[in-house]
Amino acid sequence: MKHIDCQNYIYLDCEKGMCALSKTIVPIDGNGSEACSRFVRAPKCSCCVHFSNPDSHNLGTCSGFEKPDWVYGSCGAETCEHFKMNK
Ligand code: SF4
Repeated sequence: MKHIDCQNYIYLDCEKGMCALSKTIVPIDGNGSEACSRFVRAPKCSCCVHFSNPDSHNLGTCSGFEKPDWVYGSCGAETCEHFKMNK
């Protein structure tokens, strides 16, 4: 898992963010982007029980609403009324 998938990650721009716990700048990708031992999975569509069939771009199907539709797994799910964390 990477910093960007952690609940403590704060987005700064398209390359980096900040860890809310350590207050350090962390990269989105590449060297140093691996999460630490305090990682807590952030709610995103990719970890919702209603997300399925992701392709190579992590574009999958949401079945959480009346009509199934496409969704990116990387979408933040903090405000989705139907989000349910999978195991
Ligand atoms: S129900 Fe909400 S959180 Fe779950 S996959 Fe659909 S849009 Fe994402």
